[in-house]
Amino acid sequence: MADYDFDMGILGGGSAGLTVAAGAARLGAKTLLVEKEKELGGDCLHFGCVPSKTLIHTAHVYHLMKKAQEFGLPPVEVRPVNFREVVKRIQSVIQVIQKHDSEERFCGLGVKVEFGAPIFKDEHAIEANGKTVSAKNWVIATGSSAVPPPVPGLEQTPYITNRDLFSFDRLPASMIILGAGPIAAEMAQAFNRLGTRVSVIQRSGQILSNEDKDLADGVMEVLKAEGVQFYLNTAILSAKDLGAEREVVIQTKGEEPLSLKAERILAALGREANLKGLNLEGIGIPYDEKGLKLDARLRTNRKHIYGAGDVTGIYQFTHAAGYEGSIVISNAIFHLPRKVDYAFVPWCTYTDPELASIGMNEKRAKAAGVEYDLWVEEFKDNDRSLAEGEQVGRIKMLLDKKGKPIGVQVLGPRAGDLISEWVAALNGGIKPMTLASAVHPYPTLGEINKKVAGAYLSSKIFSERIKKGLRFFFNLRGRACGPT
Ligand SMILES: Cc1cc2nc3c(=O)[nH]c(=O)nc-3n(C[C@H](O)[C@H](O)[C@H](O)COP(=O)(O)OP(=O)(O)OC[C@H]3O[C@@H](n4cnc5c(N)ncnc54)[C@H](O)[C@@H]3O)c2cc1C
Repeated sequence: MADYDFDMGILGGGSAGLTVAAGAARLGAKTLLVEKEKELGGDCLHFGCVPSKTLIHTAHVYHLMKKAQEFGLPPVEVRPVNFREVVKRIQSVIQVIQKHDSEERFCGLGVKVEFGAPIFKDEHAIEANGKTVSAKNWVIATGSSAVPPPVPGLEQTPYITNRDLFSFDRLPASMIILGAGPIAAEMAQAFNRLGTRVSVIQRSGQILSNEDKDLADGVMEVLKAEGVQFYLNTAILSAKDLGAEREVVIQTKGEEPLSLKAERILAALGREANLKGLNLEGIGIPYDEKGLKLDARLRTNRKHIYGAGDVTGIYQFTHAAGYEGSIVISNAIFHLPRKVDYAFVPWCTYTDPELASIGMNEKRAKAAGVEYDLWVEEFKDNDRSLAEGEQVGRIKMLLDKKGKPIGVQVLGPRAGDLISEWVAALNGGIKPMTLASAVHPYPTLGEINKKVAGAYLSSKIFSERIKKGLRFFFNLRGRACGPT
């Protein structure tokens, strides 16, 4: 049997790579982790989830300060944001989490960490920092990067991506965001709340295009009311550097071209897998800009080389990366042939209100030709929501023809947390009946989960047929008040 330096080699120390590294080493595999940057943690920690959610919270607090009177409080005199202070807070949160994702911690788990840019020499060996090392199995977990759209003039115009957003030395006065996906929507609201004038440009007629239109429109209406400008059904014609400002020329369907000017242009229109420069071509591993070509066990055409995280080009979320990391561990370390199953991968867009989803939504069900029944409850009927001044949003539960939940979407306060009950319900095959009969604490936002399941149950219990039966067997005598 060939003698390799390591049992497991991992390229990329982000969400997916760290999951595999920790799991493999703790199971006794001699593990190598190679990271191109100076620190571990990847996009999520440094330029993604962590800084964006920290910024979103800061913007939320600032927004609430301005609304103090709506809560019966004296008005608060809000001074303009010093973005350096905001950046300091973002960095302080990153530093705390960085300890968890540090070389020391991983070394403690038994992982050898190398910082450098690796290239494959052959299908078992890489070269990094002038050294060649081999491993029995490899995992490519090098993540993804924002790609600028092919707009004439954009390459000659300074634009920013998520890598630049969290280190400005002052708040931009204005920002044009190209794209209206989750990152664009979250950042549009956060920067707008902090005081940046934000315009969002979207080619199609809906923001958050994977979501049902009514829910995506719900998010857009809130952002619009707060001052974000949206240009839907709009093509980006060109971009230009005007010195102090940048210009983007757009054209909305049926209208004349329009020139928008802003201090910053944020490219948030799509992402490309970080696969160039690894010499995958040299070892015959196919990929395109979306990602690696993988089988259901996340193996490339070389069965000992796996892909996990954003390089799969499927769900670009940290929790999906973690899940895929666990699939790799099962296959490569336990030798248990485990396949990915994305049916119930949840996600959340952390706007205010949040928009979370699991399983089928109406759009996906219709596209797949799946018949469903829809049950809806509104947050304006949830006591806790009213107490907190949150009235926007609803839950949508999709049931198949046998009454089994196939998907849930929540638009509303803390939707990302509320969807967790559905993560358990859908993965555990729990019926609406069980959820509706389980006691939930009052008053909580989570009662909306029980209520939507209860609405379905009520339709079964309070039917004319049941009433007739009860009248017949137990001589119930009907209404005591109101029209009979
Ligand atoms: C602004 C923003 C907000 C986000 N918010 C959320 C959120 O709220 N929730 C959520 O679930 N997801 C969120 N995401 C997505 C999430 O960050 C990614 O899905 C996740 O980081 C993917 O993990 P990964 O391991 O594939 O990639 P990464 O975490 O990016 O890790 C890849 C690592 O590989 C390294 N690398 C790259 N090339 C090489 C190379 N050639 N050799 C060696 N190492 C290399 C990189 O430096 C990096 O450390 C957000 C993303 C962005 C941009």
